[in-house]
Amino acid sequence: MPRYELPALPYAYDALEPWCPAETLELHHSKHHAAYVKGANTSADALANLPEGEDPHRVQGLRSALTFNLAGHVLHSLFWESMAPEPAKPSGDLETAVTNQFGGHKQLNDQLTAACMGVHGSGWGVLSVDPCTGQLEVGAFEDHHHLIVPGVKALAVIDVWEHAYYLSYRNDREGWVTKVLEHLDWAGISNRYTASANR
Ligand code: MN
Repeated sequence: MPRYELPALPYAYDALEPWCPAETLELHHSKHHAAYVKGANTSADALANLPEGEDPHRVQGLRSALTFNLAGHVLHSLFWESMAPEPAKPSGDLETAVTNQFGGHKQLNDQLTAACMGVHGSGWGVLSVDPCTGQLEVGAFEDHHHLIVPGVKALAVIDVWEHAYYLSYRNDREGWVTKVLEHLDWAGISNRYTASANR
């Protein structure tokens, strides 16, 4: 059994049309996400079967590959869960936190858009909860695993690697981000936010 497995999408490949075409979603899930799962398994297997006296530089190279690929797997898994074809509206404690901290969803979305647009190259916009204060935070991860505060609990992520949008949106990253923001699933985000309070 492989250590890591590609999860099924929580909806069909054509469920996010027309703003996210089935071709894009299928490639993204069955090729890109699958490649991170494969890379994580390959790296983890190599680390589990190191010959005695292996060069420590090679060991650290494998650890770096595992981190990159496993972070890609974890983030894509959360990305699929962050969206829904017919997303739930915000409510409850999370809605109160958004209002108190940002002033409302328009302001939160403006922050998330700015975070996504500020990613240099490939990365992710992130809505997270600070493990120390319980405050909501908006930020970005570059690649899959740079700029991450240790222990941060990501509640929703927005993929702004070009493979996520370039087939339809070309260089219009902001157009893509706007559509993802319209389809954030606030039921799932709220469940993750509530669970984070019990840490
Ligand atoms: Mn991706």
